[in-house]
Amino acid sequence: MSSSLLDRAKRNFSLRLTLWYAVVSVIAYVVIFTLAYYNLLSSLKKEDEKAISSIFNKYRQYYNEDGLSGLQSQIALERNSEKPVLFLVRVADQDNHSLFLSLPDKWQGVDLVQIGPININMKIQKIRPKISNIETLFEIHTFALEDGNFMQIGNEIIQREELLTRFRHIFFAVMIPAILIALIGGYLVTFKALLPIRHLTGTIKSIVKTGEVGARVPEGKTDNQFSELIVLFNDMIGRIEHLIEGMKESLDNVAHEVRTPITRLRVLAENALASDQDIGSYREALSDCMEESERLIKMLNTLMDISEAKAGTLKLDREEGDISSLVEEVVEVYGYIAEEKNIKINTEYSEGVMALVDPNRIRQALGNLIDNSVKYTPPGGMVNIRVYKKEPKEAVIEIRDNGIGIDEKDLPKIWERLYRGDQSRSQKGLGLGLSLVKSIVELHGGHIEVKSRPNFGSTFFVYLPIKE
Ligand code: ADP
Repeated sequence: MSSSLLDRAKRNFSLRLTLWYAVVSVIAYVVIFTLAYYNLLSSLKKEDEKAISSIFNKYRQYYNEDGLSGLQSQIALERNSEKPVLFLVRVADQDNHSLFLSLPDKWQGVDLVQIGPININMKIQKIRPKISNIETLFEIHTFALEDGNFMQIGNEIIQREELLTRFRHIFFAVMIPAILIALIGGYLVTFKALLPIRHLTGTIKSIVKTGEVGARVPEGKTDNQFSELIVLFNDMIGRIEHLIEGMKESLDNVAHEVRTPITRLRVLAENALASDQDIGSYREALSDCMEESERLIKMLNTLMDISEAKAGTLKLDREEGDISSLVEEVVEVYGYIAEEKNIKINTEYSEGVMALVDPNRIRQALGNLIDNSVKYTPPGGMVNIRVYKKEPKEAVIEIRDNGIGIDEKDLPKIWERLYRGDQSRSQKGLGLGLSLVKSIVELHGGHIEVKSRPNFGSTFFVYLPIKE
């Protein structure tokens, strides 16, 4: 492998995986082939050894019973029979002098010099006799005889060797395509396995380049760690997109809503400066300016709260609190306003309705709801407030008024930022109250519902998860 390929492999993960796959496949191939080769070799050798030792046992018997002449006559007998003699049989003394030599049929006329030196000290030796027209290879096994001489039996192993040579050739012939297949296979497997990562990289690049967070990584059908990563990534981008949209919407709202009060502030200041006026008029202009600024600040703070609550970044200081006591505190504050407007507030509290809440935020939300009930109920009306438990695990705060009510078609819109009902324009308000209430309640893990009939009144239900 060239050093530049190694360098590239170090940097390129898919190339590295491909190479690993190829290396492991080739190693597996070599191991399997080697095992098969040695298995074949040992079984062929065993077969030959079995044949040789049975021949030796037969000839040893003749030798032991009748000496060399017995062995000689047995081999002569065999040579005269129909069956060809395939084995080399040699008896030698301790000095390796041939006492007897019988060659296979096809070597008739060949002498020992042509065959080459045969050693009695080697248990097994291979010889390749240089005989014209005969290409052969012999394996000679040496056995010790009881009288101190040696008997050597040899058989031709050329076919065995040819088979093994062919096997080795096949190994090398298959090796190159095997490496190629391993590389292609490795590439395909890696390509498929890393497809989600490529999609992910492509999506991130497009987001970085265009700044548009609308792009999503295609989610595959298979369920693995990559698909989990992609689902999480898409979720994360979804949340970021949601946050950005929320911020944009808030900014648009702010830009839109801030223009009017700022223009009004400017007009107030301009008018005051335009002519010489008495101190009383200046004071009045300044107080109007302050009122307008406060309205502006309140609106900006509420918008910020809504945005943060919607994005989930509004920090809640939760503590275990009795919901009835919380509601009672708020009712006390709005009691005076209701009284001024000649509206009666009735309350009904259940005991022990505990929830883990941020008391300030819940007071803020309830304040908005009760304020609306009083605001949108004509004098002489009534506001009924109840706190109770709803099985299995909810605290319910119900605020019912018999005021102007809300038209059915407007009901879904009341939760939107800056929405104000047509009939409500005569009342003071920013159109942000219910949007904030909904966000705060949802941030607490609860939800809010409304039922309303025009001219009959409205009921708001706040559900909060209960602490058991
Ligand atoms: P605001 O009260 O400042 O207009 P809110 O967000 O609190 O804004 O309410 C949005 C709209 O929902 C109001 O303008 C009004 O039309 C309607 N609304 C809210 N509460 C009531 C209620 N108790 N009775 C009738 N209408 C209501």
